[in-house]
Amino acid sequence: MTNEKGFRIFATSRIGAPAENRLREHGYDLEVFEGPEAPPKSLIIEKVKSGVDGLITTLRDRIDAEIFEAGKETLKVVAQIAVGFDNINRADANKYRIPFTHTADVLTEATAEFAFFMMGMVARKMYESERLVREQRWPSWHPFLPFLGDEVTGKTIAIIGTGRIGLAMIKKCSGFDMNILCYDPAYQNNDYVNGIQEVMDLRYARGIQKEKTAIKYVEVEEALRTADYVSIHVPLLLPSETEKPTYHFINEKTLKLMKPTAYLINTSRGPVVDEKALAKALKEKTIAGAALDVFEKEPLPADSPLLDPEIADRTRLFHHFASGGQITRLSVDPEKGMAGRTAQAVIDILEGRYDGDPARMPYVVNKEAFAK
Ligand code: NAD
Repeated sequence: MTNEKGFRIFATSRIGAPAENRLREHGYDLEVFEGPEAPPKSLIIEKVKSGVDGLITTLRDRIDAEIFEAGKETLKVVAQIAVGFDNINRADANKYRIPFTHTADVLTEATAEFAFFMMGMVARKMYESERLVREQRWPSWHPFLPFLGDEVTGKTIAIIGTGRIGLAMIKKCSGFDMNILCYDPAYQNNDYVNGIQEVMDLRYARGIQKEKTAIKYVEVEEALRTADYVSIHVPLLLPSETEKPTYHFINEKTLKLMKPTAYLINTSRGPVVDEKALAKALKEKTIAGAALDVFEKEPLPADSPLLDPEIADRTRLFHHFASGGQITRLSVDPEKGMAGRTAQAVIDILEGRYDGDPARMPYVVNKEAFAK
């Protein structure tokens, strides 16, 4: 395919050679900001003003009216390499009628499995155990010294947000004989939940699991009060955007509902958790521990209360890494990789697939701006 129309793309980050090559093979002129950090917004504006047709973004870039205004004559697509798009102002994109795309689905299983591993890591004190061995502080095998962990198998988990990743997390937890409480005010997938219950019942009937287990939708209070683990799978929604915002969903009040033996797992977005309140709860042992992949400010600042050495034994921290598997991030196949899906989204729009109708293109988020 040649680039007869002379399409130009600016990517605010590398997305890996295979997907970059796919775009170049289509004849597009692809300019990549080599990073690894994000470019300043002024540079993105400058590139957009220079007339690029496609802009590839990461969650680090703030994409709002300033950017859309700069590209109002020429910018045809903003393709985000992430499923979350809280950094893109949807109302602004709609006002300028510029479609933006994301990479849902391809990262669902990778993110859910990472959330599951994070839960195991904090509860079974895996990091503490490895440190003991590495630092030559392991005196001898002992029934309970120097510490014990908490099991995951057979416990109760609250899944907050039963969208794609929440449902995948449910599937993984059901394999560990967990009881599952679901909370989602906007979307309840009863078919899926009933299917999981059938699998649970079959496993029990066939002696594959010893205890009967159950899954059900409950109100948020019951979920938080009852669970041994609380795992968050919601988008970041600000109070200005919805009646059910997720900003600081975990706060001083909701933390107090949790059991002192409970753990919090967050792979959604940092601002969903009030970090100050969480650090305080961990310090005062209002809850037992937390494993976090995302933070209110990324990278995590040195003065974050989450880095307090006093809570280090019960706080596991990761570098926004839950989707960070090789295939999930970089596969050029749009059915497998975020990079592949990002490239395909750009191609769909620039080459006018689906009769050039963004409302019919699978990866476009703001379809409402193009509804006829
Ligand atoms: P999704 O849209 O399929 O699911 C989100 C669910 O949250 C929806 O069912 C929605 O109804 C529900 N929800 C909305 N408001 C809620 C509220 N107030 N309380 C409870 N539930 C609420 O999205 P997804 O693909 O499952 O991804 C979820 C989020 O995970 C993304 O928006 C992104 O921010 C984050 N994410 C993080 C990583 C990572 O690397 N850490 C990777 C992928 C996704």
